[in-house]
Amino acid sequence: MKILLLGKNGQVGWELQRALAPLGELFALDRHDGGDLADGQGLLAKVKAIAPQVIVNAAAYTAVDKAESEPEMAQQINATAPGLLAQEAKALGALLIHYSTDYVFDGSGEEARSEEALSAPLSVYGASKLAGEDAIRASGCQHLILRTSWVYAARGGNFAKTMLRLAAEREQLKVISDQIGAPTGADLLADLTAHMLRATLTRPTLSGTYHAVASGETSWHAYAQHVIEFARAKGAPIKVRPEQILPIPTSDYPTPAQRPLNSRLSTNKLQTAFGLTLPAWAVGVERMLTEIL
Ligand code: NDP
Repeated sequence: MKILLLGKNGQVGWELQRALAPLGELFALDRHDGGDLADGQGLLAKVKAIAPQVIVNAAAYTAVDKAESEPEMAQQINATAPGLLAQEAKALGALLIHYSTDYVFDGSGEEARSEEALSAPLSVYGASKLAGEDAIRASGCQHLILRTSWVYAARGGNFAKTMLRLAAEREQLKVISDQIGAPTGADLLADLTAHMLRATLTRPTLSGTYHAVASGETSWHAYAQHVIEFARAKGAPIKVRPEQILPIPTSDYPTPAQRPLNSRLSTNKLQTAFGLTLPAWAVGVERMLTEIL
């Protein structure tokens, strides 16, 4: 089986290189070797030449704030290119796996949203990701769209690493406490993808949109506290005292793009359809911390 992976060097793409390797012949691309989502025709030529049975698209325009001033580029990479991939997947009879975000929702209320909940993005990034989802669903191709949130990985920069750096330098930290979600490891997403891929090839009726996040919920503030206390217990150089990690509302930290306050996503559909278990968010975060500390 030929599997084409796009965005191989992103957080999720890097972990997919590992998780997809045993499933078939893996063609892993980034924007420099024929997998540029900004060049739709070049991308299509590459897909046609490989003629994969599975396309996994981990490439995306993920600069949420910058997207506010580059809407055309965000639309091209997050919506137009996935739409082209979906049309080609339909023509090839291939399965397309794609990732989306809690930012397709407006984050009102306090309930965990199901896949069918009304989407209402607050940002250019969220709108472009929703347009990508819609284009894939409209194409009629076999697909898995995995909506996730607050992705981190041991490789590259992430929120936990930023907090650890600041905690070593400063005596006080202010962290947003009114955005609630679930930090989700790129390694978990990659492993879910591999299992879901195999199941969907056997049972095409599993094709659809799924929420894929770690279990439980936290705020950025509680997440930061957890990271810093775990690192302190491991002997990492931490200057900030626990009571000096201060909670602030989103309104005290204005950004170009508006973020949803409630990023809770229900994963019942995924767990029931695929018989998979989603571990608590802290399990993966502590594993990542153990790796980097
Ligand atoms: P990253 O930003 O780590 O990776 C995105 C990858 O896409 C990078 O390798 C980047 O390459 C690549 N890329 C950007 N532009 C292009 C292009 N024109 N052509 C080809 N590749 C391109 O993102 P994640 O791994 O975290 O995200 C994976 C998926 O999960 C995305 O669909 C994202 O929208 C979604 N998601 C992510 C969340 C998060 O918190 N990160 C939360 C919710 C959903 P380069 O480095 O060269 O720019």
